[in-house]
Amino acid sequence: MNFKKLPLHWKIMIGMVMGILFALMMNQWSSGALWISHWIKPWGTIFINALKLIAVPLILASLIKGVSDLKDVSKLSKMGGKTIGLYLMTTVIAVSLGLLVVNIIRPGHSISETTRLELIENYSQDASQKIEAARAQQEAAPLQAIVDLVPDNIFKAASDNGNMLQVIFFALFFGISLMLVPEEIGKPVKSFFDSLNEVILKMIDLIMLAAPYGVFSLMAALVVEAPSVDLFQALGMYALSVVIGLALMIVFYWLLVYLFTGKKPAFFQSGMGPAQLLAFSTSSSAATLPVTMECVEDHLGVEEEVSSFVLPIGATINMDGTSLYQAVAAVFIAQAFGMELGFAAQLGIVATATLASIGSAAVPGAGMVMLVIVLAQAGIPEAGLALIFAVDRPLDMCRTVVNVSGDATVSMIVAKSVGKLRD
Ligand code: ASP
Repeated sequence: MNFKKLPLHWKIMIGMVMGILFALMMNQWSSGALWISHWIKPWGTIFINALKLIAVPLILASLIKGVSDLKDVSKLSKMGGKTIGLYLMTTVIAVSLGLLVVNIIRPGHSISETTRLELIENYSQDASQKIEAARAQQEAAPLQAIVDLVPDNIFKAASDNGNMLQVIFFALFFGISLMLVPEEIGKPVKSFFDSLNEVILKMIDLIMLAAPYGVFSLMAALVVEAPSVDLFQALGMYALSVVIGLALMIVFYWLLVYLFTGKKPAFFQSGMGPAQLLAFSTSSSAATLPVTMECVEDHLGVEEEVSSFVLPIGATINMDGTSLYQAVAAVFIAQAFGMELGFAAQLGIVATATLASIGSAAVPGAGMVMLVIVLAQAGIPEAGLALIFAVDRPLDMCRTVVNVSGDATVSMIVAKSVGKLRD
């Protein structure tokens, strides 16, 4: 068999499995873990950095190209309305599904008093860092989130990957203005962004050649840095609840895609495979965005006009996996502390988890920072964050898969509704 000729998702899968096996083997040797973090992990870091490097230029070029391709504002507002509406709807459904699962399984009741104390003790320092980070956001004035949308300096906004919403704002504003100037005058700028977009897509192709090796390093580093198996066991029911909820969400996407576009689940899965695997190994929707765009355009048949508008926005604001996880985690922590949450409190979680997932950055661990806000609003002890720390990374990997799958689903539905879905 020729490795070079294998489809990309198989290569990524092989890279992941080899990375895990390699790390398990190296773990047998006393300084194996250290060797991996010195000599293997840096390659994974370089791979993620290269992907992140592309995020800001990609959002700028693709959104400006996407919006200016639409040629008239009414088309934009129609597509924009549908996109935001669908994003909100899927997020609310995700949170509700999470609540349903966690209320049926009740994972918090299976944690013993000793395990709870042990977990809190082990992770309280890590948790307090997250609480600090969230507190800064929480103390902001009510309209601060809207104020933060508008950057006062585009170079400053573009120099921080955490400011994606500001970059999106600039790109939309710029694209709309480009659409409004007479075609003759706007032409050089339009051609510039069209061609910039092509160059960036080529950069992504080149980076993806390294993907199997990148995920090999990422998985190997993850395995040697993982906490002990005992803790994982104690949190098994909680992790299982999150994973069941996430799996149901994927089934829900298949259903949506089938109902709205007539495409079968197998079609969706084989098209999205590379993006889902990459989301799993990087835990970052922003880093996965370039590949999500490629999969959606080349395999799922969404025209660039739609994908270049819907996906960058989705990667930033639509996080169904994250919102579902936040709902499950909040109720789990409440259960572990012996609190019963009534209907009103759970309804509050639907609202805060929806908003918190919109506010979460598309990077590893961001969902956990925003979880603090959900906990605070529902009156659940924030120290509970320490309970779930041990299993957060694997769950982050899984929820990121759902985050990118949700964006792809919405892009297909929007494309179908405006006649931009190829057969
Ligand atoms: N890692 C997730 C993402 O990038 C966000 C999170 O839930 O932490 O989509």
